[in-house]
Amino acid sequence: MKIVVLPGDGIGPETMAATVEVLQAASQRFGLDLQLDHDVAGHESLRRHGTTVTPALLAKVKAADGLMLGPMSTYDYTDEINPSRFFRKELDLYANIRPARTWPGVPHKVDAFDLVVVRENTEGFYADRNIASGGSEMLITPDVAVSLRRITRGCCERIARSAFELAMTRKRHVSIVHKANVLKLGDGMFIEECQRVARDFPEVQVDEFIVDAMMAHVVRAPQRFDVIVTTNMFGDILSDLTAELSGSLGLGGSVNAGRDHAMGQAAHGSAPDIAGQDIANPFSLILSAGQLLGWHGQRHGLPAFLAAAEAIERTAAAAVEAGEATRDAGGRLGTAATGRAFAQRLQGA
Ligand code: NAD
Repeated sequence: MKIVVLPGDGIGPETMAATVEVLQAASQRFGLDLQLDHDVAGHESLRRHGTTVTPALLAKVKAADGLMLGPMSTYDYTDEINPSRFFRKELDLYANIRPARTWPGVPHKVDAFDLVVVRENTEGFYADRNIASGGSEMLITPDVAVSLRRITRGCCERIARSAFELAMTRKRHVSIVHKANVLKLGDGMFIEECQRVARDFPEVQVDEFIVDAMMAHVVRAPQRFDVIVTTNMFGDILSDLTAELSGSLGLGGSVNAGRDHAMGQAAHGSAPDIAGQDIANPFSLILSAGQLLGWHGQRHGLPAFLAAAEAIERTAAAAVEAGEATRDAGGRLGTAATGRAFAQRLQGA
């Protein structure tokens, strides 16, 4: 499996270095023959090439089997390409899968839970990706801004199918999150498509929640949820909440999956407030790498990759419980030492 590795901005390089150590250990332990192709995107690419993503990089990523993308300081960008958005759109990575669970050994403020947010990734309220040319946000007068949201049946259908297929491998329960009381057409269509797909999965229990009330439900009783399917921006917000409820935003893994490509990417941002201090939690990126191996294993029917993905998940739980994690996750190690300890543990898994 050939994986392009792009460390990104802020805490990206340090968390990616830890993740690479884990990938190399997984490759050795499970005989995966991973070929890691290191390149740059974001600020480092801007410095070297005058752009945050080069056309050559896109070609390379398209030809590879997977991509590991570090977080990007997109808020600092002015006219530069947002690599995260760029790859999601160019590779049609429509399903953003974000698991969140509590971990023995990590203090959490809510009851124990284990759920997955399945977020639509290619349209919705994202002004930079839901229109073919130009942006879908405009200043009508200096005091009036308009932002458009795009919802299409096709995108609703495919994200719903991802959620129900995932639910069949878990507790067979899908919760549809929406705001159809206000966005009657767009979210009405989203619910319609989810319910239509649900008919193909009669074993799966389905319920619906309005997104604002959902925040209260998730904080009050996260254990009642299994797979949550929602549109782009609601999923972005909700999945940060579920990651933080699990103990730390730094524990939220995430894979962006399409039909032919997938990209492992931490759920969090570039955290400039803690960059370069060796305190950033690398688990989110490590767990995302595990999800990427799992996606590849499933797509090509490769048991060794599925075993490696499961071992990374199990090793994360054991490492956290043993305190081999950063302080935000109740551990006692720095970023680099956490990666090293994880890689050693995985070798013995
Ligand atoms: P953030 O997710 O970077 O940080 C939010 C808070 O969580 C901060 O206190 C940070 O220290 C903490 N945190 C985040 N990741 C952590 C980790 N691995 N370990 C420990 N603590 C962690 O969000 P932000 O501060 O709003 O954004 C910073 C930059 O990241 C902005 O430029 C934003 O645009 C960008 N961003 C990028 C992505 C992406 O590339 N996918 C996603 C979100 C935000």
